Amino acid sequence: MAWLFIVILLILLWVVSLCKILHASRSPSKVAFISNGEAVFHKRNILLVMAHPDDESMFFSPTVIYLASRLHSIHILCMSIGNADGKGSIRKEELYQACAVLKVPVQQVKILDHPELQDGFDKMWSRNLLARIIEQEISSHGIDLIITFDNYGVSGHRNHCDVHQGIWFRKLFVAFSSYTYVNTLRKISP
Ligand SMILES: [Zn+2]
Repeated sequence: MAWLFIVILLILLWVVSLCKILHASRSPSKVAFISNGEAVFHKRNILLVMAHPDDESMFFSPTVIYLASRLHSIHILCMSIGNADGKGSIRKEELYQACAVLKVPVQQVKILDHPELQDGFDKMWSRNLLARIIEQEISSHGIDLIITFDNYGVSGHRNHCDVHQGIWFRKLFVAFSSYTYVNTLRKISP
């Protein structure tokens, strides 16, 4: 009977955790307030998580431009330098240049070159590793909102899908998280 009790307890814990996370994702940010002269809205501390340099321009530039125009603080975490064709160092610099145009401060852009997170359709990225890296970024910068790929990785690239899964991996197993997860603008409109 003890095992049955443990199973029920685990299910209850999981349900409570899920409810907590879903409730948090619907709650407004309590971080700060900014007045733009006409309306008062919540300032978000946002983390854009992507797989390769150029993802920001190909998939997220309208989102980033809009968020920057609303004075939200945007951090970018790029999980690789995009070295599939041996042009990683060039692509890395291009990302910094793109961020200057998108008005994301360079000190808020982190580009990783981890041996287990290399660019490629045939490279499987550990969700556990991704979750740990993302967790560290959230803690370091007080992130309360994450933007990333949908479950198809937008374009279907395997690395994009792994990033999505890494975030969900973290979301499902951290019970009392205070950040929210979205991949659309609907939940961040003032
Ligand atoms: Zn990509």
